[in-house]
Amino acid sequence: MEEEDLVRNYVLEKEIIKGLPEKVVFWEETLRDGEQTPGVFFTVDEKLKIAKMLDDMGVGIMDVGIPVVSKEEFKAVKAIANEGLKATVIGAARTVISDIDSCVEAGVDETSIFVACSDLHLKYKLQKTREEVLDISVESVQYARDHGLEVSFVTEDTVRADLDYVTQLYNACTEAGARRAVLCDTVGVMTPSAMRWWIGEIKKRFKPVQLSIHCHNDLGMAVANSLAAVECGAEVPHTTVNGIGERSGNASFEELVLGLEMLYDYRTGIDIGRIYELSTMVEEITGIPLAINKPIVGYNAFSHESGIHADGVLKKTLTYEPIDCEAIGRTRKFIFGKHTGHAAVADKLNKAGLSATPEQITKIVEGIKETAEHKEKSEQVEFIKMFRQREDERRGISDREFWEIAKGAGLEPPK
Ligand code: MN
Repeated sequence: MEEEDLVRNYVLEKEIIKGLPEKVVFWEETLRDGEQTPGVFFTVDEKLKIAKMLDDMGVGIMDVGIPVVSKEEFKAVKAIANEGLKATVIGAARTVISDIDSCVEAGVDETSIFVACSDLHLKYKLQKTREEVLDISVESVQYARDHGLEVSFVTEDTVRADLDYVTQLYNACTEAGARRAVLCDTVGVMTPSAMRWWIGEIKKRFKPVQLSIHCHNDLGMAVANSLAAVECGAEVPHTTVNGIGERSGNASFEELVLGLEMLYDYRTGIDIGRIYELSTMVEEITGIPLAINKPIVGYNAFSHESGIHADGVLKKTLTYEPIDCEAIGRTRKFIFGKHTGHAAVADKLNKAGLSATPEQITKIVEGIKETAEHKEKSEQVEFIKMFRQREDERRGISDREFWEIAKGAGLEPPK
């Protein structure tokens, strides 16, 4: 059998990928939604550094912040807009004239105008009627267009909203000049099959407009839902590096890129060789450690302990590694422990320039198992406890800092 015939890839069944768009354009949200991760903020220089790297790697669109938020935010958005990036630079705005003015002033290419649209959000959050929301949306889109900005129209909680209203709202905004419709699973409640059905309905109802999808990860389905939407022709998926963002975050950039590259055999135009470098850079800047079992960029993504797996990988990496780790700037690790087998030990000795007899290797394997199974756990428990406690202390400002600030306003902490 030929090498390429040894594995089947059912993702590529015609029935599944028939709606895949010719060109998928990544819309990066790290600098906007990503910065809304509890406790995270970026300085102007950090935002610029991340934007440049994303641009270098081939990201097509990036939402870099909401310039009306603060003076610093405005400075950062303006600096990125003036950097001469290849990517389309977007500044976000509520359906508020001063928000849009701030985007115009910052010199961005485009504004993403967002408003809530589910009846739930309208009733409790905005306390506005459907008609009022429709009117301010259309007015805002027109205002931005009149002031020289391209517009993406975004609604929060789109997937929980009434489909007839969603249709009416988007079509009115498309008519008013929005070139892109961003649909949001704001609280991560879709499933891939629901997403396929829903995008199908959207396509039947919407006037011609580019479709973009923004998925959250509350139930761990952001990437799967985004891929389902892309399969149905949504050309512009939103991502954040390391999947950061509000609550459990957004669809992760590295997972969506690698998903398309590896599973769909789809050339994204993204420089995947720098994926790991990007992830670790964002990890340091955000202070959010990559989960050990995080796909692609987590410590364990290319680590093996079990004897069967290590043996397989040493013979042919594809047996237990679906992704070529070197292609994304990583290396494979063998962890020695209770499940270690002969192959990994022989490999380590080999690499150290030593040859060992089968008896010597057996002896080492037994020694490793014995040592690993009797390891003290107190240190690991201490580490986890310290980590949890520090998490509370280092996110945002501390409780002590809060009450210090409150004191300045004449309020004492409760006794
Ligand atoms: Mn979001």
